[in-house]
Amino acid sequence: MNNLVRILLVTVILISTKAVAQVTVSPVMALDQQVSNFVVNAKSMQVIPLPTSGSLQDSYRIKIDATNAVYKDITAYILDQRNLLMYQSGQAFSGLGYQKAIAPFIIQGSIPFTGPKFLILDNRYASIIAKKVNITIEAKLLLTSSQQQKTQQSFEALYTGLKKKLIFPDFNIRVEPCGQINAFSDSFGSGDIHYCTETISNLARTNNEGAFTAIFLHEVGHSLLGLWGVPGNNNEDIADEFATYVLMSSGPNGYALLNRSLEFWQGRDSLAEIQNMLTSGDRHSLSVQRIRNIKENMQRGEAFIKRWNTLIYPHATEETLYAIIKNPSYGDDVALAEKVISERK
Ligand SMILES: [Zn+2]
Repeated sequence: MNNLVRILLVTVILISTKAVAQVTVSPVMALDQQVSNFVVNAKSMQVIPLPTSGSLQDSYRIKIDATNAVYKDITAYILDQRNLLMYQSGQAFSGLGYQKAIAPFIIQGSIPFTGPKFLILDNRYASIIAKKVNITIEAKLLLTSSQQQKTQQSFEALYTGLKKKLIFPDFNIRVEPCGQINAFSDSFGSGDIHYCTETISNLARTNNEGAFTAIFLHEVGHSLLGLWGVPGNNNEDIADEFATYVLMSSGPNGYALLNRSLEFWQGRDSLAEIQNMLTSGDRHSLSVQRIRNIKENMQRGEAFIKRWNTLIYPHATEETLYAIIKNPSYGDDVALAEKVISERK
């Protein structure tokens, strides 16, 4: 074997044995949006802008359900900008939908035009009866490469921050549609995290960076406890505690993100969660319980942080431990950091 081949082989072996985290972002962003108790008065029409990337590949599945006791008919179409104007002025138009259809019904498909898209609900033909509708909008949008890149960079920044603080085998992060507002971790295996695009688009509507980060850290809790071989890796409340601990020990900015994340849980429907618990055996505590637990731990302050320090410091990087010893901040335990460092020598 000549030297060049040997060097190449060694390089290939080194590269293939070194685990490197990858963040992959699907070009398809899935959205799931509910509009409840929407009223379309008699003799009137409502236009609802739809989420769109502007691409021809955007596709929709919209369910219209009327809550009227008897009169459940309504006209509904998905239209692009030009056909909306034609529809409004009573000209021939092209769109997806139905005339005076009896709800519930579903409008499904793509619109073969670029640019903004709209859902119209037309009740102009009714002289007296208003229509009350619940609308479920599911959209699959094609991301531009810069939108994809921006999402990838947000996750890479979070991951790099963790890697600076903690020692753990690398895991991958996949951002993909999964049909629900959720995120998952392979906590008994690779530690890989699957973050659903439905969650990202839901949080983007309220610009809730706190919940975006807290949900990610919850999954990281599952992954790291699993990779470290610690019990509780599959426990939802412990994963919440991990996220709470990381944010609480990250200073005022972490606290602000944690507080903001509570708004997301406050907006969840506890009755729907109970239903889901009964039908699918969901292991998460109800959102009202999660809020209470997080708030209680925030109030426990240093006492809560110090308990978690005993689990986390043995996995902290030397850089982090020396920083704690040199310049301790709220909740830091200098004696414990010194002990961990001396045991490593
Ligand atoms: Zn979980």
